[in-house]
Amino acid sequence: MEVRGGGGGGSCGAEHEHNRDIIIIIGGGICGLATALAFHRNIGSLRRCSKKINPSSSNRPRAYIIVTLAGGSVVSRQRTPVDEHNSGKPHWNFTMRFEVERSKLERNSAVMVFQLRHSRTIGDKDTGSVYIPVKELFDGATGTKRSRPVAYLVSSKSGKPKGVVYLSDGEMRCLKRADLMQALADDLPPNTVRFGCTVLGIKVDPSTSYPTVHLDDGTVLHAKVVIGCDGINSEVANFLGLNSTRIFSTCATRADSVVSNDPKLILQSSIKALSGFPEEEVEMVRNGDLDQLFLNQLRYRTPWNLFLRRRFGEGSVTVAGDAMHAMGPFIAQGGSAALEDAVVLSRCFAETIGGIGIHDRISHKEWRMRIEMAIHKYEKERKMRVVKLSAQTFVIGKILDSSWLPLKLIWIALMVVLFRHPRSHTLYDCGQL
Ligand SMILES: Cc1cc2nc3c(=O)[nH]c(=O)nc-3n(C[C@H](O)[C@H](O)[C@H](O)COP(=O)(O)OP(=O)(O)OC[C@H]3O[C@@H](n4cnc5c(N)ncnc54)[C@H](O)[C@@H]3O)c2cc1C
Repeated sequence: MEVRGGGGGGSCGAEHEHNRDIIIIIGGGICGLATALAFHRNIGSLRRCSKKINPSSSNRPRAYIIVTLAGGSVVSRQRTPVDEHNSGKPHWNFTMRFEVERSKLERNSAVMVFQLRHSRTIGDKDTGSVYIPVKELFDGATGTKRSRPVAYLVSSKSGKPKGVVYLSDGEMRCLKRADLMQALADDLPPNTVRFGCTVLGIKVDPSTSYPTVHLDDGTVLHAKVVIGCDGINSEVANFLGLNSTRIFSTCATRADSVVSNDPKLILQSSIKALSGFPEEEVEMVRNGDLDQLFLNQLRYRTPWNLFLRRRFGEGSVTVAGDAMHAMGPFIAQGGSAALEDAVVLSRCFAETIGGIGIHDRISHKEWRMRIEMAIHKYEKERKMRVVKLSAQTFVIGKILDSSWLPLKLIWIALMVVLFRHPRSHTLYDCGQL
C-alpha cells in the first residue's frame, strides 16, 4: 500500500489501482499526516488480516457500565454509553457526577457499585460487578488529580474473576506541534509524503464522476476519494462551497508556524502585550529565537455555519481539520479536533470499505455507494463535536475582541451559561482507530 503526502503545500495520494489513486489527502499538516497514518493503520491492517470482515457486525460485544451510589436513603444511578468501537478492551472516557453526604463519607457507609454489562439485541447481559467504598476513591485522590488509573477486579455473581476495570481522573499532556508532526511523519512508510506540490483546484471527471486534483505543475491526479486537510484557506472547502473563514481582530504569536512578518516587530508587540505578566515569562519571550517567531491572524468558521450545514462533503470529496472547522486557539483544540477527525474518518472508511481486497471486483456503483456512506457517517459523527468546540472558541474570541464593556459582559455571561464547565470539552472520546 502506498500513501503519498505533502507538507508545506503538498498533496498526498493513497494506493494506486490501475494508475488511479484511491484516496488523495491534500495537505501535510497535523490533520493530513494523521489522516494518512490512520488510513494506513486502519484500512491497511484490515486488508492484511481479512478480506471480508465487517467490524460493524452485530456479533461484536458492546459493553457499558452502570454505576450506582448506594448506602443511604437515596440511591442514584448513572450509566456510560455503550462502547461501540473497542470490543476486546472497552473503554469509556465518560465523566459522572454524584453527590455524597459528608457524614456518609466519614462513616464510610457510601459504596459505589460498578456493574459491567453487555448490550445485546434481546436482553442485556451482566458480566460482573465491582464494589468500591466512596471513601477509598476520595482518599486515593488526595485532593489532586490522579495521574494513573486505579485497577479494580470485576467478579461475577458467583465470585469468579471477570477481568479488571480501571478508573481514572483523566489525564492531560502537552505536546509540541513540531514533535507531533514529526512523530506522525516518522510512522508513515518511506516515500509516502510528496512535498512541494500546490493544489490549484478540484474538478469532477464527467466520465467517472470521481474527483480530479489539479496541481500547479500541470499534473492531474485522478482519485476515488479526496480529503481536504489543507487548512484555513482550503481549496477543497472552496470546491465544496463552504463559506470562507472569518478573522478575529485578536492576533497570536507562536513559535513554529508558517505565517511570518517582521520578527523584530512581532517581538516588540508581544512584549508590550505581556505587560503585567510575571517577569520570567516576559524574559522567556524576549530570549526566544527570532527566526522562529511568527504572527498568526486568527481565522474561524462560525458555529452556526457548521451547525446549519447539512453536509460538508459532496460525492466522494470531504474536508477535515481546519479546512472544515477552523477555530480560534483559545481552548487549544484545533489540532486535537484534527486528530479526532483523522481517527473517525479512517474508522468510518474501514467499516465500509475496509473488507474489500485490492483484487475484488467491485462495481463502480458499489464503490461510490460505500465511499459516500463512509463520508456521510464521518460527517454525522463529527458535526456536533465541532459545533460545540467552535462555539466555545467563538464566545471566548468575542470576549477578547470586544472593547465595549457592556458587550464584553454579555459574552462573558453567555460563556458562563453555555460552558459552565470550561474544561468539559477535554472529556470527549472519539473512540479508537
Ligand atoms: C496561535 C495558535 C495556537 C494554537 N494552539 C493550539 C493548541 O495549543 N492545541 C491545538 O490542538 N491546536 C492549536 N491551534 C490550532 C492548530 O494549530 C490547528 O487547528 C491545526 O494545525 C490544524 O491542522 P490542519 O492539518 O487541519 O491544518 P494546517 O496545519 O494549516 O495544515 C494545512 C496543510 O495544508 C497545506 N496546504 C494548504 N493549501 C494547500 C494547497 N492548495 N495545496 C497543497 N497543500 C496545501 C499547508 O501547506 C499545510 O501543510 C493553534 C492555532 C494557532 C493559530
